[in-house]
Amino acid sequence: MNLWMPYSQMKTASKPLEVVSSEGSLLTLNDGRQLVDGIASWWTACHGYRHPAIVEAIQQQAAVLPHVMLGGIVHQPALQLAERLAKYLPGDGNKVFLSDSGSVAVEVAMKMAMQHWANQSATGKTARHKFVSFRDAYHGDTSGAMSLCDPVDSMHSNFRGFLLEQFPQSIPDSDETEAEFDRFIASQKDCLAAAIIEPLAQMATGMRFHSPDSLARIRRVCDRHDVLLIVDEVATGFGRTGTMFAYQQAQIQPDILCVGKGLTGCSVGLAATIASAKVYEPFHADRWEAALMHGPTYMGNPIACAAANASVDLFESQPRLEQVRSIEQQMEQRLAPLAENDHVDQVRCLGAIGAVRMKEEVDVAAATEYFVQRGVWLRPIRDTVYLAPAFTIASDELSQLCDAVVGYVQAKA
Ligand SMILES: *Cc1c(COP(=O)(O)O)cnc(C)c1O
Repeated sequence: MNLWMPYSQMKTASKPLEVVSSEGSLLTLNDGRQLVDGIASWWTACHGYRHPAIVEAIQQQAAVLPHVMLGGIVHQPALQLAERLAKYLPGDGNKVFLSDSGSVAVEVAMKMAMQHWANQSATGKTARHKFVSFRDAYHGDTSGAMSLCDPVDSMHSNFRGFLLEQFPQSIPDSDETEAEFDRFIASQKDCLAAAIIEPLAQMATGMRFHSPDSLARIRRVCDRHDVLLIVDEVATGFGRTGTMFAYQQAQIQPDILCVGKGLTGCSVGLAATIASAKVYEPFHADRWEAALMHGPTYMGNPIACAAANASVDLFESQPRLEQVRSIEQQMEQRLAPLAENDHVDQVRCLGAIGAVRMKEEVDVAAATEYFVQRGVWLRPIRDTVYLAPAFTIASDELSQLCDAVVGYVQAKA
């Protein structure tokens, strides 16, 4: 095999499964077996796999304009998508920057935040180029985004010394910790461009949750010291936590919003960085240098935009948030009793995320084998066995997933 696999010690890893087709919540393997997928391909398949409306949009777009550069040229799929994504932030005059992946959406957010301050100074330079991030954060694998991830997380510890140094903090959850966070921000605000948070659920580091109240505290402190707030909803956006966007549960307003993963409903890579009119304002100037210096080659790819427009149509026409609510109820009912198990630290369900945190790290290879033998596809992270299925999953398929998780935990006893 010439293929270099992600996050994988290929010398010791078991042979990857070969998938030949997908439909709904099912993956079909090359030997004919079918697995019920409980994690929706890194949480992207919100409408299930191979949704016919998305497939049709891709086919139609590929037949007339698969790609064209976005420099000096626009096209309807990108114009329409930008108009629709702009509405995901409150207020008028929001601007939408398209890119190929969530990591790049975060890089672009960082550049926007820093240059927002630089453009307001007479010299065009600023000392405000540092970022406040949070423990257990994950914002992507490119080097700027990596600098915002949890500093001790093993995924990125090989690169210490190479990365920019940022300011990882604990998420405030009380008046006391908010005051601490406030003191820190006050002491560093002259070098701070923005704070960045994955709202309500830090999914990639193993489903770490915080409350809407914590999010409101972070917003309040940023406001008090005029620091921008970037909300990274690459994982939580598009319904995953029970509302279209997780930030809405805290009734706050982000300055910059990053979306990705679910944006094209598990079809083509695409992400977006959505900036408020306030963030954009200093870029709107006569000086060319004040423009945003970024432009991925395949930016705003028409096929990807057509897929995203079809996915947004589905969110508008289908009862996705109600489906998320019933998934939450079913998972809660079946998984909550596991909290009594001696090996379990805690069980939390939020929207279409159901997480069982064990007291010890999970042996992912052994767990995966256990699950595949039971006809389900799950991939625990660190100490957490979790479900994050398609919103369209059938109730009996979800039962099968929950039973597998319960069986796995009980087999440990
Ligand atoms: C997955 C993820 C990213 C990175 O997205 P890619 O498309 O993998 O580059 C960034 N932020 C969060 C919160 C994510 O979950």
